[in-house]
Amino acid sequence: MDEAAGIVIAGGGLVGAALALGLRTSMHRVTLLEARSFDADSGDARVIALSHGSRLLLERLGAWQALTDVIPINTIVVSQQKRFGRVELSAREAGVPALGYVAGFSVLRRALIAALSTSEVNVVEGCVMRDFEGGASGALLTVECAGTTRKFAAQLAVLADGADGMRMARVEERDYRQSAVVCDITSDAPHQNRAFERFTPHGPLALLPTARGWSLVWTLPSSRAHEIIALDDAHFCAELRAAFGSSLGDLRVAGARQIFPLKLKYARRAHIPRVVLIGNAAQSLHPVAGQGFNLGLRDAWELAVALRTARDPGDFAILNNYFNGRRFDRTATILFTDTLIRLFSQNIPLLDRLAGAGFIMLGGISPAKNFLVRRMMFGTHG
Ligand SMILES: Cc1cc2nc3c(=O)[nH]c(=O)nc-3n(C[C@H](O)[C@H](O)[C@H](O)COP(=O)(O)OP(=O)(O)OC[C@H]3O[C@@H](n4cnc5c(N)ncnc54)[C@H](O)[C@@H]3O)c2cc1C
Repeated sequence: MDEAAGIVIAGGGLVGAALALGLRTSMHRVTLLEARSFDADSGDARVIALSHGSRLLLERLGAWQALTDVIPINTIVVSQQKRFGRVELSAREAGVPALGYVAGFSVLRRALIAALSTSEVNVVEGCVMRDFEGGASGALLTVECAGTTRKFAAQLAVLADGADGMRMARVEERDYRQSAVVCDITSDAPHQNRAFERFTPHGPLALLPTARGWSLVWTLPSSRAHEIIALDDAHFCAELRAAFGSSLGDLRVAGARQIFPLKLKYARRAHIPRVVLIGNAAQSLHPVAGQGFNLGLRDAWELAVALRTARDPGDFAILNNYFNGRRFDRTATILFTDTLIRLFSQNIPLLDRLAGAGFIMLGGISPAKNFLVRRMMFGTHG
């Protein structure tokens, strides 16, 4: 056996790193295994909209303090292309300092890793988990590090290796046949801490405020997304203006475009003896309404709380309680995002009309707006 540790986390993305931080003051030896090098720039153009609840968790993890260029969102404008009805959610109306915050994906990752560097967590980079087993007395991970096979024994293995790694029985999957085009944008009008979510017949289009202007997340049928990403800047911006409208004046491309295929994927059962899944490894969602990391962070936090003082962190009763405790948040968030997509971007006339009517009503009903605001800010705890 190469290594023996209390808790081994496979996957040092945002969620795995957050869990490792949450366990830094625990009584367990913690090892974080990551396939890539932490020094390498992830080159990921996406930004992450963080809920107010996530800010509070990141503060407790000691990572918020190291975040740079975080932009508060004071207003969210939700609208539908070719339909009346527009909803404005404002921090002032909700009585909070901000509805959420926008941080760069790479900035967030660096802040989490920097906070880990002053902890006792054993961080192992450049090692790919190839296989895992869970049994009554322990878990065993087979890991490849620079061509050498190593075995890690643990009381508990946590799989935080993202959606591609989801390797439990009974994985449910809905291929939206959509992809997100992500790119930095500038506009004539300043962002004034506003975020826009516009539902088009092809899929939602979001503009999130950043230090340089906006981050665009434009969901389209995959074939159309591949056409759009290949356009030159002038034609790309013309298509964007046609979908978004002219309320921000001229829109200009300010960075490389990236494309992300979108699927809903979740494991019906996210734990087996001495192995548990969290973050995208447990559920990977459509990015509409920016819920994926916020949900994964709550997974990481709740699991850390459950494990911190446990004598045996792989105890089945502890994992079962954790999983049952996460069930409502998980199911509600999956349903929330999936329903938004099905209602607003399936191009089915009756559904489309219902969605339009829902919008007009939502604009006028405070409890409904409050529900939406609190859901965006805190998840199901709102
Ligand atoms: C376009 C887009 C926009 C989004 N916007 C938002 C948003 O605004 N707000 C929000 O909350 N969420 C958003 N999300 C979702 C969010 O990005 C994810 O939920 C989050 O990044 C998931 O983190 P994770 O750590 O669970 O998984 P991942 O980010 O997939 O990380 C997995 C990690 O595991 C490593 N790994 C993989 N396999 C192995 C292996 N075998 N061995 C060792 N390591 C391995 C990988 O290298 C990686 O570092 C968005 C997603 C997309 C696609």
